[in-house]
Amino acid sequence: MTFKPADAIQDLQYFGEFGGVNPSISDSSTYTFLSAKTMFDTFEGNADGCYLYSRHSSPSNLYLGEALAAMEGTETSHVTASGMGAITAVLLQLCNSGDHIVSSRTIYGGTYAFLNNFAPKFNLKTSFVDLTDLDAVESSITSKTKVLYCESVSNPLLEVADIESLSKIATQYGIQLVVDNTFSPLSISPNILGADVVVHSLTKFINGTSDAVGGVVCGTQNLIDNLRNVNDGAAMLLGMTMDGFRAASILKNLRTLHIRIKQHSRNALYLAQKFESLGLKTVYPGLESHPSHGVFKRQMNHDYGFGGLLTIDVGHLDKANALMEMMQKENLGYLAVSLGFYKTLFSAPGTSTSSEIPELEQISMGLSPGLIRFSVGLDNDIERTFHAMKQCMERVGII
Ligand code: PLP
Repeated sequence: MTFKPADAIQDLQYFGEFGGVNPSISDSSTYTFLSAKTMFDTFEGNADGCYLYSRHSSPSNLYLGEALAAMEGTETSHVTASGMGAITAVLLQLCNSGDHIVSSRTIYGGTYAFLNNFAPKFNLKTSFVDLTDLDAVESSITSKTKVLYCESVSNPLLEVADIESLSKIATQYGIQLVVDNTFSPLSISPNILGADVVVHSLTKFINGTSDAVGGVVCGTQNLIDNLRNVNDGAAMLLGMTMDGFRAASILKNLRTLHIRIKQHSRNALYLAQKFESLGLKTVYPGLESHPSHGVFKRQMNHDYGFGGLLTIDVGHLDKANALMEMMQKENLGYLAVSLGFYKTLFSAPGTSTSSEIPELEQISMGLSPGLIRFSVGLDNDIERTFHAMKQCMERVGII
């Protein structure tokens, strides 16, 4: 049976305190107990259904977490104040000082900076590898490796992880496969394909309105209990707690994710095909020219398409900047980082979201200064958008 992530969200039934169709928003940082013994048991993690303190958990956060776990097909999840909060918490929970991580070398710049610059302070070392080379992945694993880390579709190069094969390697060596699914919610279900842990930046497609920052760790009950443990849980002790009001608003947006993703994917495929036909160096997992098109197709939940992100390489940064400024002036989108908004967003990752990656490393992984990343919007008439973009490209001399 194919996995139906949007149905899993739809099938959850919540009522508010007074029968509201949305659950009531929890507006308390602390909770009362009728007996001191129950309070003690809750501290120890033995009193299901009781709330203690909102850094630990709160009803609004649990509702959102339940919906995200349903979407990813995991036992449960823990929502966090940002995507980085989710990523750092889970890595610090799974690894101890002296441990080793094998990571894809093309990942979000912030995650790269954490692994490369911050984690070594705790004697946690990372080997960055070409994830599409499964032999290279396997040969980087040592007796100290605890985690294999990747993005299902990588930021910004749009490399596609072969999650099933990576999961076999992870299982063989007894390590945890952690997948950041921020770029492909609904389209790819990493847990169903064998990942142990799925993380998201909710800031992007899942919330979809560019008005909130959030994250989630989806995994087993055991992992989430460990994250929340009052004695040594990374989520509890490092304090990346999502606010209950935000959790409530993100949950409401999550319910329309399937409609938005279909439109983002449809528009991105249209633009990618058109850009490629203009002779532009275009990368989009939905194009047959993408080296991992077959891998994406094999793994995808077909209803949702190949996602909303594409890149073009216009050769030089000054050309990229000129094009982006002109497209913004013509109201075709915004020159802004982030993704998953109703308007198209574009940026040059080499000097923005991936600037944490050293220049030489950028070159070796194929991240050229003229690369523009598009998060394609929900435009009703994408043909009109394309013609206006083409005119901008002609005016700045790219085509
Ligand atoms: N993962 C990916 C793939 C991202 O693109 C980002 C942010 O751009 C993050 C994680 C971090 O998320 P946040 O900004 O919500 O901390």
